[in-house]
Order: sequence, then C-alpha cells, then structure tokens
Amino acid sequence: MRTLDADVIVVGAGLAGLVAAAEVADAGKRVLLVEQEGAQSLGGQAFWSLGGLFFVDSPEQRRIGIRDSRELAMRDWMATAGFDRPEDHWPQRWAEAYVDFAAGEKREWLHALGLRWFPAVGWAERGGASATGSASASGNSVPRFHVTWGTGPGVLEPFVQRVRAHESAGRVRFLFRHRVRELSTRNGVVHGVRGDVLEASNAPRGTSSSRRVVGAFTLGAQAVIVTSGGIGGNHALVRRYWPAERLGPAPGFLLSGVPEHVDGLLQQAVNAAGASLINIDRMWHYTEGVHNWNPIWPNHGIRILPGPSSLWLDPAGRRLAFPHIPGADTLGALQHITTNGYPYTWFLLNRAIIKREFALSGSEQNPDLTGKSIRLVLRRIGRAVQAPVQAFMDKGADFVVRRSLRELVDGMNALTGAGLLDYAVVEQSVTERDAQFANASGTDPQLTIVREARRYISERLIRVAKPAPILEPADGPLIAVRLNVLTRKSLGGLETDLDGRVLDASGQPMPGLYAAGEVAGFGGGGLHGYRALEGTFLGGCIFSGRIAGRAAAAAIT
Ligand SMILES: Cc1cc2nc3c(=O)[nH]c(=O)nc-3n(C[C@H](O)[C@H](O)[C@H](O)COP(=O)(O)OP(=O)(O)OC[C@H]3O[C@@H](n4cnc5c(N)ncnc54)[C@H](O)[C@@H]3O)c2cc1C
Repeated sequence: MRTLDADVIVVGAGLAGLVAAAEVADAGKRVLLVEQEGAQSLGGQAFWSLGGLFFVDSPEQRRIGIRDSRELAMRDWMATAGFDRPEDHWPQRWAEAYVDFAAGEKREWLHALGLRWFPAVGWAERGGASATGSASASGNSVPRFHVTWGTGPGVLEPFVQRVRAHESAGRVRFLFRHRVRELSTRNGVVHGVRGDVLEASNAPRGTSSSRRVVGAFTLGAQAVIVTSGGIGGNHALVRRYWPAERLGPAPGFLLSGVPEHVDGLLQQAVNAAGASLINIDRMWHYTEGVHNWNPIWPNHGIRILPGPSSLWLDPAGRRLAFPHIPGADTLGALQHITTNGYPYTWFLLNRAIIKREFALSGSEQNPDLTGKSIRLVLRRIGRAVQAPVQAFMDKGADFVVRRSLRELVDGMNALTGAGLLDYAVVEQSVTERDAQFANASGTDPQLTIVREARRYISERLIRVAKPAPILEPADGPLIAVRLNVLTRKSLGGLETDLDGRVLDASGQPMPGLYAAGEVAGFGGGGLHGYRALEGTFLGGCIFSGRIAGRAAAAAIT
C-alpha cells in the first residue's frame, strides 16, 4: 500500500483552510496545505476583508447601550435567511449552531487568540422595514458588526501564526502553486487529490497569477478538507447560477469584489465527483460597487458601506421607492435594481454626508484600522474626509463632484454618455427629500431610519450624518456616485452535516471528505439562507473550519 503524504490534506489556504489545518495539527496529526497561489497570497480573501465580525451581546455592544440577546439574533437570522427548501435541513441546523457560537464562545475564543475590536459597533444590514423603529421583518434589529483591530489581516494573524508554528514543528507542510483538479477515490472513499503544479509566480498578493502547468501531482491522506472558497471571481459561473426568476436578469456589467482565485472550479469538480451542491443560486452581491481607481485584481470593484442619508436615484434620476435606502436590505435593493434592468444607480449626497457615511470595504481602504493606528483612527471624528474616500472623490471613475446641482447633473450625464438625466427630475427628487430632512417633524421613512440610527453614540459620531438638506451650501460640494453591481459572496455550496462531512446526492456522508468556509456556504451548504446579517462570513469560515478540522482529526485512525 502507498504511504500517505499526510493524515489530512487541506485544499485552499484561505481563512477556513488555515483554521482547519491549525485544528488538525493541534490534535497532533500531519497536515498538507495545498494552495494554487504563491506563498505571498496566504490567507485568501480574508486578507482583503474589513474584518467585520458578527457578535451577539458583546461587551462592545453593552458599553454603548445596545441590548442584544441570542433570542433576538436567532429571530433576526431566521427572518433574514428565509429558509424555505427541503435542502435547507443542514443549512438551518448550521445557522442555529452558528448563532449559538456568535452569542456564546466565539468572542471569548477569538479574544484569547489575541483578536481585538474597534469599540464603535457598526450597524450593517439594518433591515428594510424598520421605519417605525420597531424590529424589522429582516435585517439586524441592533448593531452587531464588530470591526477587528487590524481588519482582515488582524483576523488571519493568529491562525497564520498557529499554522506556521506547526510547520516549524513538522506537523504542517505547505504546497503552494499546486492546483487541485480532482479527488482521488477508491470504493467510494476519498483518499487524496490530484492536480497540476503551476509555474512559480511572484505576482503580488491578489493579482492574477500564471496558470501555466509545469507538472502533475497525486497526494494521499486519510481525509481531505476542501476549503477552496466561493465563485464570485468567476463571472461565467455567477451568470450560470444567477436566479433570474427571483432577481431578474443578471446585469450586463458586473464588477468583481473578489480576486480571480475565487474561481469555483474545485467546487464544480467535487460536485462532479458525487458531492451534493445546494443553494448555489443564493448569492450575496452588492449594489454599491465602484471601480477601484487603483485596482489589484481584474475588474476590481470596491463596495461602499453606506450610511443611510444619501439619496438613491435610478438612471433617470427618480428616487428609489422606500424601503430601498442605503445600507438597509442588500438583496431587496439588488432585486429592485436587476428586475428593473437598471445598468447602474446613483447616490446623490454632499461632502458632509460622505465624510460621515462612506466607509469602503477592504483592508487596504482602511489603513488606520488595518495599521492599528489610534492617531489615524481619531481622524474619523474630525472634519476632514477620510483619505481613501477623498482619493475616490479625486480619482474614482464613478465619482462626480460639483458646486451646483445643475453642474452635477451635467457631469453625471457626461460620465455615462447616455444623457438619461433630466435636470428637472433630479431637482424634484432632491428638493422633495430636502424638504423632509430640513424639518424636525419630517415623516419621510428614510429620515425616520436616520433618526433611529443616531440614537446610538457610535452611529452619531462616525456613521450617520445629522439630518440636513443635501443642497445646504455649507455642506457642499455636491457629489454623485455611479453604483455598479459587484460580485462577492456565494451563500450556497457543498452540503455538509454538523461535522463538516460532505454529503452525496442521497444525503450520505462521502467517507474521507470534509468542506468548510465559503465553498460549503459557510457551513451546511448555505447557513445564511437567502440573505446575510453581515460580518457572518469570516466567522462562518472560522466556525466551519474549526468543526471540519476537529472532526477530520478525530476520524483519523
Ligand atoms: C474586500 C472584501 C471584504 C470582506 N469583508 C468581510 C467582512 O468584513 N466580514 C466578513 O465576515 N466577511 C468579509 N468578506 C468575506 C470573507 O473574507 C470571505 O468570505 C472569506 O475570507 C472566505 O474564506 P475561505 O477560506 O472560505 O475562501 P478563500 O479566502 O477564497 O480561500 C480559498 C483558497 O483556496 C485556494 N484554491 C481555490 N481553488 C483551489 C484549487 N483548485 N487548488 C488549490 N487551491 C485552491 C484559493 O487560491 C484561496 O487561497 C470580505 C471579502 C472581501 C473580498
């Protein structure tokens, strides 16, 4: 019999793979971590992430007066997920387990590993129907988005350290530039992987690397854990699985919110080998994408994490109907935009709003938090626009900055070249909104949400501008931002049970095969259901990576 190359092979050295590898090695087993990119890309998408984590009833929440509970979070999760399919059996069980983790052990465990969080808890995915201040049908009832000190690299750090320490001790071996093409199976048991050795590459992290094949490999182990990520960087797959019956046709143009290595190819191969792939039509793409003026990967889009005050316009300059307000309901807004066939939409705002309300998702867009610089972070409270946001105002292809509304509309028409905007229509949209925002007793539902958000000191200080007219001259210049749909997360994936074991089409575990992270829909084949509460992806990778790593190690004889 052939000697095994390791006890466990982990495919994909992103966050989920690193967590799984650390757990297997902690149990004293030998791990091979096989990764198609070079060592410089260790950590996958998580490196680029904002490091936002979903915690429930955390000390950070309590300190600023947020009353949260497991029960409230579970209600929010289930209302937001909308599980409604027979194949939601495992996703729903994973969701319950994950909310328990987020309300229980998660923060303490990560804290013990050295993670720390920015004290101002953010309110992502506020929900679309909370105009009255009551709990909304979906979305977060309270702020739960905890940005990690050090952002994505800060989340990765302890896991990279653990895996590197195991590498030094001889328990973990990395094989970079090794692309797995298929699983090796014998009598239905997965016992290894086969693939291509890619030529060495010193392409900087996140950029496209060569796919030239210079060799082949076959590796054997008692178990294989697949942690190869989602499909968001492969627009052909995104379009193939796009749920046109739910969301209308996919937009003709999509920006990429993830690097090219998020290609979904291994997920396809594992599916072809008999694994059940479920909920693949559930995707989490954003409507607030802008072309990165300084792109890293092809078609690189940055997502604006918007506060609630901007005016959101369709391509003809008409205000999107409530509940479509910035930052409320990601999927609802996407559905509205795609079913109407809008190629893009617009945010219309001013300097005072952009200063307070534009956060850009991504570690490189937040050098203060990523670099753990208290001095720079304090500037968020000051008057100046954050430097990365200012850079987009100065150089971003989707940004128009002008003194008067007429000049702004001319600039917007010049940007698209389509001439779809009639000045009178835009002026009416702005003045109607402004009349409400100028009025202390205004009843505009968007205004109600702004007021509601400002009850929290964190929102007042750095996230939500004081209600005021956009055309207030002291708050100028005026700004218009063309928003494109940007691909990001895959909510569906390989179906797994609560041990992270991959199931086949008949619901039976495929012996020797595990999956974790985005390739497994962050657990179960889609623990988010249709919609996410945000900050739940990194945590989903950590949770499912830990479970799969522990289960695989325990199954080794
Ligand atoms: C800009 C940005 C901001 C984000 N912000 C947040 C946030 O604030 N909060 C949050 O919760 N989530 C956030 N996310 C999402 C989160 O980062 C990802 O969902 C998560 O990191 C996915 O981790 P993963 O390990 O499952 O997959 P990946 O990070 O995609 O890693 C998979 C690895 O597998 C490798 N691989 C793929 N196929 C093969 C193969 N055939 N052979 C060998 N290797 C292979 C890839 O090269 C890659 O290194 C963000 C993502 C981005 C891009």
